[in-house]
Amino acid sequence: MVTSQIPTVVLANPSVVADQKRLINCEAVDVNQLMPLKYHWAWEHYLNGCANHWMPTEVPMAADIALWKGDRLTPDERLVILRNLGFFATAESLVANNITLALFRFVTNAECRQYLLRQAFEEAIHTHTFHYVVESLGLDEGEVFGMYREIPAIAAKDEFEMRLTAEMLHPDFTTATTAGAQRFLENLIGYYVVMEGIFFYAGFAMMLSFHRQNRMTGIGEQFQYILRDETVHLNFGVDLINGIKAEQPELWTPAFRDRVVAMIREAVELEIAYARDCLPHGVLGLNADLFRAYVEYVADRRLERIGLPRQYGSRNPFPWMSETIDLGKEKNFFESRVTEYRRGSSLTWD
Ligand code: FE
Ligand code: MN
Repeated sequence: MVTSQIPTVVLANPSVVADQKRLINCEAVDVNQLMPLKYHWAWEHYLNGCANHWMPTEVPMAADIALWKGDRLTPDERLVILRNLGFFATAESLVANNITLALFRFVTNAECRQYLLRQAFEEAIHTHTFHYVVESLGLDEGEVFGMYREIPAIAAKDEFEMRLTAEMLHPDFTTATTAGAQRFLENLIGYYVVMEGIFFYAGFAMMLSFHRQNRMTGIGEQFQYILRDETVHLNFGVDLINGIKAEQPELWTPAFRDRVVAMIREAVELEIAYARDCLPHGVLGLNADLFRAYVEYVADRRLERIGLPRQYGSRNPFPWMSETIDLGKEKNFFESRVTEYRRGSSLTWD
């Protein structure tokens, strides 16, 4: 199995090398041979990730600390903030662990591995963000980082994901069989489409609602940076999923497509239950009914991107969320900071 995952045959002709590259199950090209590229999209996503580099500790938190320590937040508003920190604090690690322990060794394409290494670091930065927020606000770090076990609606989402990772950690797991390659695709869909594409979005909407009211602006800015990164993660995941479908169309059977749709429908219900848990009485003009429509709307868009039929037909109750996301694409979003990083590439020693 190890030899089939790490092939050693290297062909001499560069264009043949590119032609022979495969996303998974490659037997012809050594995974260390990055150039020539076959999948230019993977390299583009890697460059986009690098161009977006940021660190949480550069975001000022003084206004958030003043608001949190004062008396102008209601108990329900505090609950929304805590449950979101509790979910994201651990979700980022689940994504990083899934990349490094489950996905990485089965991806036989060098340009995709290059992207996965960048993404894994971004997930570490996201985890760092939640530690920085917890520390800034003086929260109980054991409580926030333990919510993935203690709060049922968070635990249910995380168990959904951890099950997908566990299936691939078996020593005899292989993508060489149809069933194994389908499991691999299921893991990709469960993480890129569900976790980063659906499970993150109710939380993004809740936290960015505070930001729109000019409250908890430091956390809001952190979430905008994370949302921008997650947009690239989702784009990479969709390209990888669709790329494997093109390489091995025999995997995408009607029965398998039904399984994927059922999995996404299950995830939508978990996300709606989580939103209800965060907003038991509704705050900030948000309530659980709006979140049902929002999560369904987001899920339909994700389904379409991997070639599956829409399931819900719900309208977007938060059009301002699309504006926030589209700004990222236009690049006038945090441009000053991105430019600063590009300029800061020269080394100085002291
Ligand atoms: Fe992340
Ligand atoms: Mn991510």
